[in-house]
Amino acid sequence: MKLIIASSNKGKLKEFSALLSPLGYEVYSAKEAGIDIEVEETGKTFAENSALKARAIYDICKECVLADDSGLCVDALGGAPGVYSARYGGLESEKERTALLLENMKDVPEDKRTAHFVCTIHFIYADGREIAVEGRVDGKIAFEPTGENGFGYDPVFLYNGVSFASVSQEEKNQVSHRANALKALLGKLEKGE
Ligand code: IMP
Repeated sequence: MKLIIASSNKGKLKEFSALLSPLGYEVYSAKEAGIDIEVEETGKTFAENSALKARAIYDICKECVLADDSGLCVDALGGAPGVYSARYGGLESEKERTALLLENMKDVPEDKRTAHFVCTIHFIYADGREIAVEGRVDGKIAFEPTGENGFGYDPVFLYNGVSFASVSQEEKNQVSHRANALKALLGKLEKGE
């Protein structure tokens, strides 16, 4: 069965493909499937955004589609950057956005630096049935970046006291918000829900 992923991020495509091909899905990016649209993420929640992206592509191809949305929510900042994680402060680079986050957190004590990553996945079957799932991972915001791996806010997100950028991709994939959302999706797909 053909499955179209609403993302051109190679890392994500690889991860989705590894987990979904054992269930009989042949994974393609929207671009590979000949769909070249930019869906504006106008939703107020991660779930709204992943549904928007999935439905926009489904409306064009009427095949199985998967879209995800993710971001970082920091309790001391009222849940920011949240759905604006990729454009926090209107800044262009991940380094600048991470620096802004640390600046905004500079007076927040260690015990109040709790945060979580969220990932929502919206899956649409070729017949139009929809599945929505969410995964999260809880941690804390560091006082300074550490580690060279990963991307985005990984250098300042501490999971069990160690930054996501300091562990291997495999270790992160065991516990990450994206892995947890995928596990929830696989559970539902296997049950045929
Ligand atoms: P998107 O789901 O690809 O739109 O990601 C939104 C933004 O959230 C990214 O640009 C990152 O800034 C942040 N983000 C999402 N997942 C992660 C992660 O696993 N590590 C670090 N940053 C992440």
